[in-house]
Amino acid sequence: MARYRGAVCRLCRREGQKLFLKGERCFSDKCAVTRRPYAPGQHGQARKKQSEYGLQLREKQKAKRIYGVLETQFRNYFAEADKKSGITGENLLKLLEMRLDNVVYRAGFGRSRTEARQVVRHNHIEVNGRKVNIPSYEAKPGDVITLKEKSQGAQRFKDIFETTESRIVPEWMDADTENFTFKVTDVPTREQINIDVQETLIVELYSK
Ligand code: SF4
Repeated sequence: MARYRGAVCRLCRREGQKLFLKGERCFSDKCAVTRRPYAPGQHGQARKKQSEYGLQLREKQKAKRIYGVLETQFRNYFAEADKKSGITGENLLKLLEMRLDNVVYRAGFGRSRTEARQVVRHNHIEVNGRKVNIPSYEAKPGDVITLKEKSQGAQRFKDIFETTESRIVPEWMDADTENFTFKVTDVPTREQINIDVQETLIVELYSK
């Protein structure tokens, strides 16, 4: 299961906006986008006019980076979204949003999606009472996501909850925080997916 291992703040600087890839740091004045609000590299501060293709490419890169998905997997998600009925761009975001690592992040079991992914990989999560350690597992309405009993009192999660306890649980999930359990009640609508990506540009890019 490949993933990007380079410097993540560089990705935000490249997109010219916060992608919230690092948890707490993203909300502090240490954030690289706040400190150096220009693209990385030798020509990062040069003014550039974006072509139509460039705009489409940037939106695709942004979505990939937010959800921590590499190119091939992202293309597969697009192909799946295209086959479904409805609006392809919205289908794409819904598929990404229903990834188990994202659901775990939304539940507050990780300060960032990267951390949530690691939480899944390290066997801390159960889905409907069974261990699932595949970050790309597609959650479905009715799925019950639980932090494993053994992990509930671990210092690691106490630290995580200190940061995430104020996080608002999305409308498409029901929380039972006392039992470290969340139920997926629905597939989110586009309005309920609060990420700043113009998915229509991604569809245009892949439709060429
Ligand atoms: Fe992006 Fe967070 Fe790094 Fe800021 S601190 S550049 S939002 S990953």
